[in-house]
Amino acid sequence: MVVFGEGDMDLYSGKTGNLGVIGHPIEHSLSPVMQNAALREMGLDYAYIAMPVKPKNLAAAVEGLRCLSFRGFNVTIPHKTDIMAYLDEIHPDARGIGAVNTVVNDGGCLTGYNTDAAGFLAGLRDKGVSLGGSAVVLGAGGAARAVLWGLRQEGVAEITLGVRNVAKAQEMLQECPCGAAVRAVSWAEGAFSEALQRAELIVNTTPLGMYPQVEESPPIPWEWVNPKAVLYDLIYTPDKTRFLAAGERRGHRIINGLLMLVGQGAAALQLWTGREADRQVMARALLGKGR
Ligand code: NAP
Repeated sequence: MVVFGEGDMDLYSGKTGNLGVIGHPIEHSLSPVMQNAALREMGLDYAYIAMPVKPKNLAAAVEGLRCLSFRGFNVTIPHKTDIMAYLDEIHPDARGIGAVNTVVNDGGCLTGYNTDAAGFLAGLRDKGVSLGGSAVVLGAGGAARAVLWGLRQEGVAEITLGVRNVAKAQEMLQECPCGAAVRAVSWAEGAFSEALQRAELIVNTTPLGMYPQVEESPPIPWEWVNPKAVLYDLIYTPDKTRFLAAGERRGHRIINGLLMLVGQGAAALQLWTGREADRQVMARALLGKGR
């Protein structure tokens, strides 16, 4: 049950702008907590809500949000690719990544963006990590595409995908414009160990280690890993996965997925409002929820 505090009832009026997130399931989304905290701190008159949308209702929901004059909305699993068919314009970054996670409504014209790559890079910037020439990315799903896009934009020349299914990863690379010259290797091969030896950054984009499977971890032959490599896990629950904990014990710098979550949300908020959000306020709101 929601218990309203004193003053909460005055938050919204007939002029309040609408924002939200669509997905299925959506009830575990942390975006409303993070976005409403930022909106309040910025004094912006918007309300951000989570909206469950089943795949069969996607077209109708998008039309509904357009007609309801939503200023914009985030898009999450399973709609990030399918929604592209229902939008008027797609930003080149989203087209390249092959997924939309943010929609802006300009007077009925819906434009799709992807802020995941910007969020990923914000995590590195926040931790003062400057990218070198070589990186290893574990996994080849949707998040890996955004990571590849970001690394390419920043000029990382040598990228190796370490995966369990090489054929599937190669298919992804063929359809992704940032896939050229990226190679996919099985993490059971010697080529994987060689790539780890050179990598200045190792990014886990698989769900291995995510709650509740916290005992899982990508298979890392630690004796091969470049001792100076920074380890970045896109998972934020738990805040230190087995992969990050093992790396930290060996002296590696580590980054979890919280900064990326905040970074992609702040970039979306900026697209809707033209204002820069306070990412610390957003991070504090998430931490306060115990994630
Ligand atoms: P996805 O599209 O399903 O891709 C998952 C990738 O991990 C695939 O390459 C898959 O391999 C691989 N994988 C899954 N289970 C595996 C296993 N047991 N062993 C080996 N490989 C496995 O998922 P996604 O959307 O990219 O999300 C991946 C992770 O990133 C999730 O934990 C998600 O929460 C996190 N994420 C975080 C943020 C953030 O803001 N911090 C943003 C986006 C995603 P196959 O192709 O062989 O199935």
